[in-house]
Amino acid sequence: MANYFQPEIETASREEIIRIQNEKIVKQVKHVYDNVKYYRDLMDEKGVKPEDIKSIDDIKKLPFLTKNDLREAYPYGLLGTDLKNCVRIQSTSGTTGKRVVAFYTQHDIDLWEECCARAIVAAGGTNEDVVQVCYGYGLFTGGPGLNGGSHKVGSLTLPMSSGNTDRQIQFMMDLGSTILCCTPSYAAFIGESLAEKGYKPEDNKLKAGIFGAEPWTEEMRRSIEKSLGIKAYDIYGLTETSGPGVSFECSEQKGMHINEDHFYAEIIDPDTGEVLPEGSKGELVFTSLDKEAFPLLRYRTRDICILTREKCSCGRTHVKMTKPMGRSDDMMIIRGVNVFPSQIETVLLNEGYTPNYQILVDRKNNTDTLDINVELTPEQFSDKVSDIQAMEKALEGAMRTMLGIGPKVHLVAPKSIVRSEGKAVRVIDNRKLHD
Ligand code: ADP
Ligand code: ZN
Repeated sequence: MANYFQPEIETASREEIIRIQNEKIVKQVKHVYDNVKYYRDLMDEKGVKPEDIKSIDDIKKLPFLTKNDLREAYPYGLLGTDLKNCVRIQSTSGTTGKRVVAFYTQHDIDLWEECCARAIVAAGGTNEDVVQVCYGYGLFTGGPGLNGGSHKVGSLTLPMSSGNTDRQIQFMMDLGSTILCCTPSYAAFIGESLAEKGYKPEDNKLKAGIFGAEPWTEEMRRSIEKSLGIKAYDIYGLTETSGPGVSFECSEQKGMHINEDHFYAEIIDPDTGEVLPEGSKGELVFTSLDKEAFPLLRYRTRDICILTREKCSCGRTHVKMTKPMGRSDDMMIIRGVNVFPSQIETVLLNEGYTPNYQILVDRKNNTDTLDINVELTPEQFSDKVSDIQAMEKALEGAMRTMLGIGPKVHLVAPKSIVRSEGKAVRVIDNRKLHD
């Protein structure tokens, strides 16, 4: 049976959603123009006035905002209200550079937590669940977002934060956690640790996991579902728009519904800025429709995905986005070929390896090099050098087929690659050192 946190909005007709968006965008643009000088200057430069935005379709007239704008305007330049109205600051993880800080009024916190509550309910959560949140707490949005969502659902919330895996497992078993929230890489690590302690997947009470904050493949999903004995749901978001919960997966587990009553999504060509038709792959752009403190209009996420309005079996009507398989700046260009870490993960898991790997990129004698360290399980490990060499060769062949270029694969001893408790760092690109 389908369950919704806010059925009247989550299953609203297309006309109703557009009506909500039309109404909100007019107000939001006026709010930004009146209160955010940085964006008012951008609009003036483009010759756009708030009166020009009469409906959501007019959004195309507005200028884009980029991460660079956010860094330039740091810390208060994009603030949309007086600081005395704000109740919270959160910050990005700083995965790709200087951190961005975002501000929230109580209204902004409520709408964000409601989005997370929708995600928890979509994963089967109710007030009878025990929700173990092991995303990091603090400036990172993962912990606070899911924590607030869990409260709104009325679930029993376990605010574990990340790390201390032994304690995570002890509480999970003692307190009977039913829903696990963390990064997919940490979920994989928890699964591995449970097995090492002699637990079978059916020994825990978990039924679902809500995993996001980093790219992960379908192969990784299946591997986590197996090791924990659960259904694993994707959740997406970014600090700039509020945090996790901008979109979330439903029972269909195929794409994430975007909370369109709060966030308007567009797909653009990252090179030209042109808005692309539905079904095209491109850069995701978000407009917050009703945020007060940090209202971003047409924010370029650099995440690459596809939007679709195909009817969903869960009954939700909000547009879906595909898993972003890495941001435009995660893409490595190696000897002229575009390579995403997610392609490497797919090959590894298909070939029976664990998701414990590390990608090393460098430049030697003016040629790019790609090395992949892949950890063996104790069962795969062998003392015979010829066995290991044969496995490396086979994996290099499979990688070449997928990537179009041949990497050097190094199979390494069990437990030699450091595990992630938050966002995994998979790529070390040393080419920058020589530039
Ligand atoms: P940072 O940009 O420093 O990592 P955030 O913590 O706000 O800051 O992370 C937001 C980014 O994390 C998104 O733009 C996206 O690239 C990535 N992300 C979040 N959720 C997912 C997900 N479910 N799948 C893939 N990538 C995700
Ligand atoms: Zn659905």
